[in-house]
Amino acid sequence: LATEESRSTATPMMEQFIEIKANNPDSLLFYRMGDFYELFFQDAVEASRALGITLTKRGQHMGQEIPMCGVPVHAADDYLQKLIGLGFRVAVCEQVEDPAEAKKRGGKSVVRRDVVRLVTPGTITEEKLLSPSETNYLMALARIKSSSEPAYALAWIDISTGVFRLAETAESRLLADILRIEPRELILADTVFHDPELRAVFDVLGRVAVPQPAVLFDSATAEGRIARYFGVKTLDGFGSFSRAEMAAASAAISYVEKTQLAERPALGTPERESAASTLFIDPATRANLELVKTLSGAREGTLLKALDRTVTSGGARLLAERLMSPLTDPDRINQRLDSIEILAGQPSFAGDLRDSLRRAPDMPRALSRLALGRGGPRDLGAIQAGLRAAATISRLMASGNLSEELVAARAAIDALPASVLDHLDAMLADELPLLKRDGGFLREGANADLDEVRGLRDQSRRVIAGLQLQYSEETGIKSLKIKHNNVLGYFIEVTAGNAGSMTDTDEGRARFIHRQTMANAMRFTTTALAELESKIANAADRALTIELAAFDAMTADVVSAAEVIKAASLALATVDVSAGLAILAEEQNYARPVVDHTRMFAIEGGRHPVVEQALKRQAANAFVANGCDLSPPSGEEGGSIWLLTGPNMGGKSTFLRQNALIAIMAQMGTFVPAASAHIGIVDRLFSRVGASDDLARGRSTFMVEMVETAAILNQATDRSLVILDEIGRGTATFDGLSIAWASVEHLHEANRCRGLFATHFHELTVLSEKLGRLSNATMRVKEWHGDVIFLHEVGPGAADRSYGIQVARLAGLPASVVARAKDVLAKLEDADRKNPASQLIDDLPLFQVAIRREEAKPAGNSRVDEALKALNPDDMTPREALDALYALKKEL
Ligand code: ADP
Repeated sequence: LATEESRSTATPMMEQFIEIKANNPDSLLFYRMGDFYELFFQDAVEASRALGITLTKRGQHMGQEIPMCGVPVHAADDYLQKLIGLGFRVAVCEQVEDPAEAKKRGGKSVVRRDVVRLVTPGTITEEKLLSPSETNYLMALARIKSSSEPAYALAWIDISTGVFRLAETAESRLLADILRIEPRELILADTVFHDPELRAVFDVLGRVAVPQPAVLFDSATAEGRIARYFGVKTLDGFGSFSRAEMAAASAAISYVEKTQLAERPALGTPERESAASTLFIDPATRANLELVKTLSGAREGTLLKALDRTVTSGGARLLAERLMSPLTDPDRINQRLDSIEILAGQPSFAGDLRDSLRRAPDMPRALSRLALGRGGPRDLGAIQAGLRAAATISRLMASGNLSEELVAARAAIDALPASVLDHLDAMLADELPLLKRDGGFLREGANADLDEVRGLRDQSRRVIAGLQLQYSEETGIKSLKIKHNNVLGYFIEVTAGNAGSMTDTDEGRARFIHRQTMANAMRFTTTALAELESKIANAADRALTIELAAFDAMTADVVSAAEVIKAASLALATVDVSAGLAILAEEQNYARPVVDHTRMFAIEGGRHPVVEQALKRQAANAFVANGCDLSPPSGEEGGSIWLLTGPNMGGKSTFLRQNALIAIMAQMGTFVPAASAHIGIVDRLFSRVGASDDLARGRSTFMVEMVETAAILNQATDRSLVILDEIGRGTATFDGLSIAWASVEHLHEANRCRGLFATHFHELTVLSEKLGRLSNATMRVKEWHGDVIFLHEVGPGAADRSYGIQVARLAGLPASVVARAKDVLAKLEDADRKNPASQLIDDLPLFQVAIRREEAKPAGNSRVDEALKALNPDDMTPREALDALYALKKEL
C-alpha cells in the first residue's frame, strides 16, 4: 500500500490515510471522518467480518475499488471491545485541527489527522472494555544472552490500576510463570519470538504474544529510561534489579508510552517478586485443576467461583491473584489466615464491613482514567464515593478486633487525605453526566461565577417563555411555540396553516424572519430571540469553561494523591477478601490449616470445595469426607505416597483433585474444606489428571500424558506434591503397567515427594511390600444383589476387583454381553491365581538397581528382542500381557 506509486495516484485524503497506516501496520486504523471512524482496504475487510457490519466501497485506488466500512463514533467503544476481545489492536486516528484551518490553507488541503491512541488488549482503561473482576496485564519478556545460561525476566503492568511488578524466570518455567499472571498481551523481542526452542511456549499463548523490534528490549539504555519515566536520577530507591529485569521493565514502559502517546499513566514503582516466593504450578496442572477457568473456558465450576464472596471489583481481582499465585512463606500465609480467623470470630462486624464495602466503587480504575486525561465526571464521583466509603470503613474498623494485616490495612485507609474528599464534596453535583463536555456536574454554590452565569441562563429561559406568550398574543396563534434544536438554535414554530399571519408585520410589533419550511410547519426567528439566544449560548460557554477548569483542578487534586489512593484501595480489597473468606469459612464449615516448614500433609475429613457446593445446590446426598495422610513416617525425610485403587466412578479423581486444591487453598492463605489440615509448605504442585486432549496440536492423548509425566518425574522435589491419575492408561496394558510401575518407583526413590497415585493396575499394589513409604488405599464399594454401590469412602488396602462389569451394566451394556463378560472374567481370574502378580516383586529389583544393571548390559538380549517384536500389545488383555512379561523375564 505504501509504495510511491500508490501515494502519488491517491486523492489527498487517501494519501494521508496511506501514510498513517504505513506507520501502524499491525493495527486496524480507525480513521475519523465526521461522526464515523472509517476503515479502508484490508482493515475494512477484516473489521467488517469480525464485527458483522456492512462492507461498502469508497472511490478507487490504482484502478481498484477501495473497500470501506465504518462505525459511529458514539458507539465506538462497543466495537472496540469486540475487536480487542478478538485480539485485534486498533489505532485511533482523530482530526487534530479545526476543519476551518484546513480550508484556510485552501486548495486540496485535508484536515490534519493523527493517531492519538493505540488500543491494545494489554493497555486499555475504559470501563466498558475491562472486566471488573479481572486484572488486565501487559507483560514484557526480556532475555539477556550471556556466556552462561540466558537470563529471562518478566515485567507486568496493569495500567488500569497502576500495578507494576517484576520477576526473574527461566526457560524451564517460562510458560508456567506467564500463565500464573495471565497477561492479556505479552510483548517480546522478535528474535526471542522466532527462537525455535521457545516455539511451543508461544504456540500456547497464541495471539497474546506480540513480537516487537528487539531494540525495545535493549538493556544498556533500560535504567535511564525507567528513571526518566519516574522522574528520578537513579533506581537505587526502588531496590536492586537484574539486567534482564531492567530490560523487561523498560520495554513495558516504552510500550505503554507508545500506546498511550501523549498521556502517562500513574504507575506504581516496580515491585520485585522472587520466583521462590510463590508455589510453582505447572501449566497442565493449572489448567486441569480448573482454578480460575474450566477446561472449556467457563468461570462457573472453578475453584475461584466456589471461593468468591467478595463484594468489590478490587476484592475479586485480589482474590483471583492470590489463587493464581499461592505463597511459600508460612509467615505471610499465617498473616492472611489470622485476618480470616479474627473476622470469622466476629460475624456481625464482618457483615458491617461488607455492607460498607458494597458502596465502594473501583477507585484504581477511575484514578487511572483520570491520570490519563480520559476521565469523566463519574470517575470523580467514583473517587468521591470510594473515599467516603473508606472513611466509614476506617471508623468501623476502630470498633472491631483486628489482625496485624488488618491493622496495616486500616493505617493505609487512614492515610487518605481528607482534603480530597472535602474538595469533591464541595464541588460535585449529586447527579453526574457521563461526559465532562456536557457540563452540569458542579453543584450549586460550588463556584460564585458559575452560579451567576447559570442565573443569567435561567433568566433568559424565562424571558423566552415570556416571548412565546407575547408572540402568541400578538399573532393570535394559540399553538405558536418557541423550540430549540442543535441546528437552528431557538426558533418560533407555527403550523403551515397559520403561517400566513406571521408574514404581515406592523410597526411596533415583532418582525418575524423566516428560517425554515417544513412539511406541516414554518419556522421563524426575531431579532430579540436571536439576541437572547446568543446570550444563552455565551452563558453556556462561560459556564462550561468554568466547569472544565474546576474539573481539571479536582482531577489534579485526585491524581496528586494517586499513591495513597492506590494503597488504600489495596487495603480495602484486602478487607473485602478477608471478610469474604471468613463468611465462606463459616458458611461452608472450613477449618484453619496449620501451615509450616515441615513436610506434613495430614488432612482429616477433607472435601472437594467445588463438588461439595454443587452437591449442596442440588440438595443431593452430602459429600463424603475423606482424610489423607502423606506425611513422612516418623524419623524419615521422604514424603509418603498413596496408591489408590477402586472402580471407575468410585471417586478417585475427585479425591485426588480435592487434596491438590486443599494444598493450594492453604498456601493462598484461606481456610480449607476439612475437619483439620496440617500442611508443610509445598514448593511445586504437579498433577496429571483427566485427559487434556491436545489432538489439535498433533499430539496423541498418550503423548500428552507422557510429556506431562516426564515433566513431573524430572522436576518434582522432595518438597513437592504430585497427583497422578491413571498413568499408562493411554497405551497397551503391557506398556502401561510397566510405565506406571517404574514411575511409582521413581517418585518414591528419586523424587521422594508426597504423592497420590490412582491406578486401575491392581498389580501395582504389591509394590507396598518393597517401598516403605508407599501405602495402598482404595475407594470402598458395596455389592448389593449383584449391583455395585459407590460409598465414596477411602479406606486402607487394595481393591480386590475393579467392578468394571457392574459399572458397564449400569451404563446399559446388553445383558448378553454382560453375562458373557462374567464368564470370560472367571476364566481369566482362575488363570491368574496360578501366576500371582506378587511374584513380580521378587523378580524385579528396585528402580535404582535396575538402572545400574541396564548400564552394565547395554547390548540387550536378542532372544528377548525377538520375543518382544512378536508381541502385539494392542491385541492383548491385561492378563495376557502380564503372562508375556513373566515369559520374557525367564528369557533374561
Ligand atoms: P473415578 O475417578 O473413580 O472414576 P470420580 O471422582 O469421577 O470417580 O467420581 C465419580 C462420581 O462420584 C462423581 O460424579 C462425583 O461427583 C461423585 N463423588 C466422588 N467423590 C465423592 C464423595 N466423596 N462424596 C460424594 N460424591 C462423590
